[in-house]
Amino acid sequence: MSDFPPCKAARELDRTDPLAEFADRFEIPDGHYMDGNSLGPLSEDAERSLQRVVDEWRELAIRGWTDADEPWFSYAERLGSMTAPLVGADETEVVVANSTTVNIHTLVGTFLDVVDLPTVLVDDLDFPTDHYAIRAQLRQRGYDPDEHLVAVESRDGRTIDEDDVVAAMDDHDPGIVFLPSVLYRSGQLLDVERITEAAHDRDVLAGFDLAHSVGAVDHDLSGVGVDFAVWCGYKYLNAGPGAIAGLYVNRDHFGTTPALAGWWGHDKETQFDMNLTFTPADDAGAWQIGTVPMLSAAPLEGSLRMFEEAGIGTVREKSLSLTGYLVELVDALADAGYDCDVGTPREPDRRGGHVAVEHPEAYRLSLALKERGVVVDFRPPNVVRVCPAPLYTSHVDVWEVVAELRTLLDEEAYERFDRQDGGVT
Ligand SMILES: *Cc1c(COP(=O)(O)O)cnc(C)c1O
Repeated sequence: MSDFPPCKAARELDRTDPLAEFADRFEIPDGHYMDGNSLGPLSEDAERSLQRVVDEWRELAIRGWTDADEPWFSYAERLGSMTAPLVGADETEVVVANSTTVNIHTLVGTFLDVVDLPTVLVDDLDFPTDHYAIRAQLRQRGYDPDEHLVAVESRDGRTIDEDDVVAAMDDHDPGIVFLPSVLYRSGQLLDVERITEAAHDRDVLAGFDLAHSVGAVDHDLSGVGVDFAVWCGYKYLNAGPGAIAGLYVNRDHFGTTPALAGWWGHDKETQFDMNLTFTPADDAGAWQIGTVPMLSAAPLEGSLRMFEEAGIGTVREKSLSLTGYLVELVDALADAGYDCDVGTPREPDRRGGHVAVEHPEAYRLSLALKERGVVVDFRPPNVVRVCPAPLYTSHVDVWEVVAELRTLLDEEAYERFDRQDGGVT
């Protein structure tokens, strides 16, 4: 198609990219890696901090808890402090711990124990694990999840209208609203501030799942007054498969009893007194449960140092530039008559770090793209998620990915793949 924009504009944009040199520090498999919102790639920085902890284990063994470079005993709090700027929180409000799903269990459980109205408002486009965990927490308190988990319905199957969230608060009297910052499929960024304010006006607590925004979007959780939040370490934070997750609890809630108590959430000063009475830490550290998993935490240290260097504001700016450019190119395909569409809101302040490219053959297209070295993923029913993560992706990468997509569509190269769904894509 002659009206497909040339690559020149991409080169121009890359010339002034302040983050350009970060890409060299990542190990990117051949081709184009557009899946950093599912699993971030390995960086030499993450590998170095992991290797250091392995060395400390070898050389110090048990003494690592106190004598390591960054003593393991306080490592989760240390990494929490380093994460705090990414989410706009005070250092004491953040800790790394557990997995995202476990953190939803403990935080939603914690606040279900203190609110007057035991209904949780979510949305019907959520990542399933969030609902599984909340339903389980409701059940354990004797509340029927079919009644007490209320999902705001999407009007278009792609996005959630904040007006509908606010209206649902009035209609259903929840005690807690728990929503994603960025919807995992369409990439819509919800208005965290507006939802939090509307919640507080109604005496509702506001919690967010930042799995798809931490490390891509700059947040201001404390400033906005968000009550609690959770996120993954292995997506944009590039800390490795199954890496330790993170959580935030607003300082106003320090001292609230954690739903899932464990000795690692104990007040650090007296943890090793081994009292049978649980005295939780007086900050977010209280929501830890068991021993910090050092080997799935260590890569996060190197990775967070990269974010410190880059600055989350700059990361977000580049992310918007990359996704904006991607939207422009997919629009150009649609204008040229290709059957594809952008499912992500076009307004920058409503967009997370990835773009949902919709096509009736999305499943087979994602397979064909992967075969040609473009790593994307498919989300049913019709979405190819394309994630140009800002620390290691260039505008030229984005151009090449969309050019490859266009070639595949021209050749109908996806035709030879099976229609039937497979496991993880
Ligand atoms: C990725 C993701 C999770 C993953 O949870 P794990 O406990 O790490 O498996 C949870 N919620 C959302 C919204 C996600 O995107």
